[in-house]
Amino acid sequence: MGLIAFDMFMFSGDSKPYVYCPYCERKFVNRYNLKVHVRDKHEDSTTNLDCDVCGKTMRNRSCLRVHMYHHRKQVEHSDQPETTTS
Ligand SMILES: [Zn+2]
Ligand SMILES: [Zn+2]
Repeated sequence: MGLIAFDMFMFSGDSKPYVYCPYCERKFVNRYNLKVHVRDKHEDSTTNLDCDVCGKTMRNRSCLRVHMYHHRKQVEHSDQPETTTS
């Protein structure tokens, strides 16, 4: 209910009738369209954050890097029997 009222305010008010993409400054009629655009055009890397080793999806690129680092460490110490890290 609050969302509809907010949208109407956006269109009727003379202050900022559109929302703008922070990356390419393209304008959109509402926040949802902007969100979809940002996800499609500027955050496509999020679809490529799956770990190749265990298939786990990371929140961001640096998370994946740290995660992969741990995998590499596990391989280096693979001569040890069972590492239980939980
Ligand atoms: Zn954009
Ligand atoms: Zn993994």
